[in-house]
Amino acid sequence: MPGSLRVRTAFSPARRADPARAGQAGGAPARVTRCARRRGGPCAGAGAAGVRQYESVEQLGLAGMPPGLYPCTPSRLRSWLECPRRYRMAYLDHPRPSKGPPWAHHSLGASVHNALAGWWRLPRPRRTVQAAGELLERGWIGDGYADAGQSAAHLARARAMVEGYVAGLDPDAEPAGVERTVGMKTGRIALSGRIDRLDDRPAGAPGADAGPGARGLRAEPWEGGRELVVVDYKTGRRPPADDDARTSLALAVYALAAGQVLRRPCRRVELHHLPSGQVVTWAHTADALARHLRRAEEIAAECAAADELFRAGPRAGGTDTVFPPAPGPACGWCDYRAHCREGQLAAPPRQPWDGLADPGVPQGEPGP
Ligand code: SF4
Repeated sequence: MPGSLRVRTAFSPARRADPARAGQAGGAPARVTRCARRRGGPCAGAGAAGVRQYESVEQLGLAGMPPGLYPCTPSRLRSWLECPRRYRMAYLDHPRPSKGPPWAHHSLGASVHNALAGWWRLPRPRRTVQAAGELLERGWIGDGYADAGQSAAHLARARAMVEGYVAGLDPDAEPAGVERTVGMKTGRIALSGRIDRLDDRPAGAPGADAGPGARGLRAEPWEGGRELVVVDYKTGRRPPADDDARTSLALAVYALAAGQVLRRPCRRVELHHLPSGQVVTWAHTADALARHLRRAEEIAAECAAADELFRAGPRAGGTDTVFPPAPGPACGWCDYRAHCREGQLAAPPRQPWDGLADPGVPQGEPGP
């Protein structure tokens, strides 16, 4: 655990149904029952807060769906929740609508993630602070910046950020995985995603539960007194909130998947915010992880039903009825804003580099 960091607390193509069958078997066509959570608002289906709310309280009928697992990632599920139209353009439309230009803050984030992953892949003697900075410079992605000067300024900032973070790491603390793809199956879905870093630490290691604002449950001392920890790097301007680690569906799913892959419990999840040096950590209970998984299954069922209707064609309602826009301030950051009149009216366009300074830029979920 990086000693210098301040501890505040503490998911392939689906097996698709034959479109011609959609709405036939069993009589009634599939109808989408949609979770009311939008734009990052609370979804009580997450478990903690209580009753789930629906815009349309119609029991989902997956008529015509063949048996099989619905493959998905946390990003796909989140996309559906945030804006069904964006989900359709990103995951269903063929050809996919053109996206806007690359975002500089995405370039910065990818550069930092790549440098940190590369640092852990170096032979132990070469894991130095300077090596981290050099990796960042060599792999710098300059897309989306206003000009070379702006790119250079943020390269310098990112280098300082990466070097400061690495200075607090123990190069001997070999992670159990770096940029590791994990997956898990339930009876209904096949979830997959990529973890920035998976630590295997002594349980209760410094930083895991310390700090005056510590929240969450102390992880149980697993075999050998060690615990697996899902670590996600954050590079945006806004530090994560105390609840972000606890409520993240993606982190919970990654913890479950990591535990399944390594055949050991994995309950702790952490957000490492490099610009501020803050770490937000949370240790889930087994029940809490199970609630997150049920929520993922519920959202995936909505996606599966919507996918069916899309393939059944417009007469089945597979356009704006099933995939309505969800206009709001975040539309300024949407890759598909150019194809969405409602989004254009909801928020002004953003320059590709605006996210470098805007603490309100959507952070997104971990993983692909
Ligand atoms: S611009 Fe807004 S409403 Fe339109 S697809 Fe994007 S997020 Fe959805």
